[in-house]
Formats: sequence, structure tokens, C-alpha cells
Amino acid sequence: MSDRLEVFMFPCLSDNYGYLIHDPIQNLTASIDTPDVHAIEEALNQNNWELDYIINTHHHYDHAGGNLELKKKTNCKVIGPMQDKDRIPGIDQTIEHAEEFMFGSFVVKGFHTPGHTTGHMVYHFESQNVAFVGDTIFVMGCGRLFEGTPQQMLESLDLIMSWPDETLLYCAHEYTQTNAEFAITVDGKNKDLLNRKAEVEDMRKDLIPTVPTTLNLEKKTNPFLRSDDQEIRLELGMLKSTRTEVFAEIRNRKDQF
Ligand SMILES: [Zn+2]
Repeated sequence: MSDRLEVFMFPCLSDNYGYLIHDPIQNLTASIDTPDVHAIEEALNQNNWELDYIINTHHHYDHAGGNLELKKKTNCKVIGPMQDKDRIPGIDQTIEHAEEFMFGSFVVKGFHTPGHTTGHMVYHFESQNVAFVGDTIFVMGCGRLFEGTPQQMLESLDLIMSWPDETLLYCAHEYTQTNAEFAITVDGKNKDLLNRKAEVEDMRKDLIPTVPTTLNLEKKTNPFLRSDDQEIRLELGMLKSTRTEVFAEIRNRKDQF
């Protein structure tokens, strides 16, 4: 039997990814967020797993909307960010910034990453080189700033960038193709980006998920992690601006893209 964390991902709703994680040692299962009750139940059946926990990244309906129904059906425990506790339905256990907790045999560390919402949390399984990042970072993109400031989001992304390069990032949406199309408008001379854009176009023709990504790939191709890149700054005419100013400009352009 494997002693690795098992991750089962499945597309649901229009462009979400659902995730079940499983500890084969203690036979425990968690759903990362609850985008779609029916799809989660199907995934549980398919694997012959029973739901023990829901681990929420943030309160948006396509992330926590299935909490109450699943809790009622399975009696699972809901874990979520302290900063969003009043907006996460059915929450039982709150996690503070940089707090460690156990999922079965695995240590998980929750990090508060405001920006998309004021109470967003990402979950890092350091021993497994795996992280569930919700709507904070996407493949070649980042979450929209519905509630937070550019400064907050940049700090949240900097925190993610401090993890090892090989960390697998499981994002909550398949936005990759549009993100790549936008990315070349600010970083069009970046060879890694151009190659990757072609790769993901091929993958999406066959509906192959482009998630998970690695931090290493994102550092090379995600414009939201590259606000100190000279070529991007030149393109934006912002050679002397602060990182926050450059980040805010890129985010602003993406919102209008
Ligand atoms: Zn969201």
C-alpha cells in the first residue's frame, strides 16, 4: 500500500476542478471545497471512499456551496479559514495563518492568502510537495481581486513563491488558455511562455486538464509572479515602478482583457 497522499481530481460545473484527497494509511478522505455535490458523490463512489472532511479555501458559492448538504449526508467535519469563518457554511474547525493541522497521517499547513477574498486560505502538504491553492493562483494567472488589494494579493503570491520549485499547485479552475492569451500581451517575448501557450492549446483540444502546475513553471510563465521582470516592465512602460504598481497594472489589464 502506498503511503503517499492520493489526489483524485475531476472537472465540474463550467470550469471548476473538484479534489478528493485520501490518506491510504488511516483510510480518511477529504473534499477540497464543495463546488458540486453530485460530482463529489460520484467521485467518492468511484473510489469507494467515504467523506470525513471538507477543507475550504474560501466562501464563494462554487467552493463552499455544497458544504451543508454533504455535511448532512455524511456527517463530515468542515475545516476552513479563521478569517472567513462567518461565511463558510457549517464550519467546525478554524485554521489560522501558518497553523499546522493533521489530515490523517499528513501534516497540512494553512496559509491566509487574501486578495481574491479577504479570507482565502491555501493548504500546503509540504512532505508531499502538494498544495491546494483555490482561487489565489491559476496556471499563468491569479484570482480576481474581489475584496483584497493588489498589495495583499502580491504578498499572498510571494508567500506561495517561497515554497520549493517542484511544488504541485492544484488550482480550482481551468482558466489556462485565456490566461495564456492574456499573458503574451504583457510578456510576448518570453520563449517559455510562448512554448507553454502552444502546449496548453494542444492539451485543451483533447480536453486534457492543464492542472496541476508546478511553481517552477509558474515562475517562468505567470506574469503575476513576474512583476520585477525587465521585459514586462519595458512593455508596460513601468521600468521604475514598484512591484505592487506593476502587479496592479497587469491585474487591471487582465480584468479588461
Ligand atoms: Zn472564488
